[in-house]
Amino acid sequence: MRVILLGPPGSGKGTQGDLIGKEYGFPRISTGDILRQAVSRKTALGLQAEAQMKAGHLVSDDIVASLVAERIKQPDCLSGYVLDGFPRTINQVKLLEQMESGRPELALEFTLSEEVLISRLTSRRVCVNCGAVYNLISSPPRKEGTCDRCGHPLKTREDDRPEIIRERLRVYEAEIREVKEHYRRKGVLSVIESSGLPEEIFSRVRQVLEASLSRASKIDRRMAPR
Ligand code: AMP
Repeated sequence: MRVILLGPPGSGKGTQGDLIGKEYGFPRISTGDILRQAVSRKTALGLQAEAQMKAGHLVSDDIVASLVAERIKQPDCLSGYVLDGFPRTINQVKLLEQMESGRPELALEFTLSEEVLISRLTSRRVCVNCGAVYNLISSPPRKEGTCDRCGHPLKTREDDRPEIIRERLRVYEAEIREVKEHYRRKGVLSVIESSGLPEEIFSRVRQVLEASLSRASKIDRRMAPR
């Protein structure tokens, strides 16, 4: 199973991706995380992507697609994986389908109002060392400005500043329309209302995922040699 998480920055799709990972054993693959790591390690790819990321623009489809192609070849992706932040353009959808066709898939679209999104993102903090994510309102660190896990300082992500957030939301809406339409036409899109506690949202996710897994296993059984 391939689970594709769609939703603007701040819609909680990363948290839901981790919960899916824990319950179903599917690794969450976040292109944003992979790119941020490349930038902080100053790899050739990171240097190429840095300026676009800082401005809230999309990195080129080829760069992102090659990162994903590498990652989904790993053995932990065999029974399934969760894509967070990819595909973001219709061209990326096509590249993904060329990489691996025929895998059953489910696209989950997380929706939330722009006001709530901006307030969530401006209160997000990340650890400079281990990448742990906090939210000053919903999940603050025990000691202000310090990571609970490793004791390093917390910072605001470069692209979580209000003017950049608005640009990211604008870019997201413009690009994702066709992607959503593609999955809707394929009959694999489910819309998840993303307000409430993570566990409440996850119970909605679990329902659609269970239905989708059961459909996929029926198809598998029908196609299996007798
Ligand atoms: P995210 O953490 O998903 O919000 O991604 C942070 C930034 O990484 C985005 O604003 C883009 O610059 C870049 N990025 C992540 N995923 C993609 C993608 N699929 N296509 C292009 N750029 C991406």
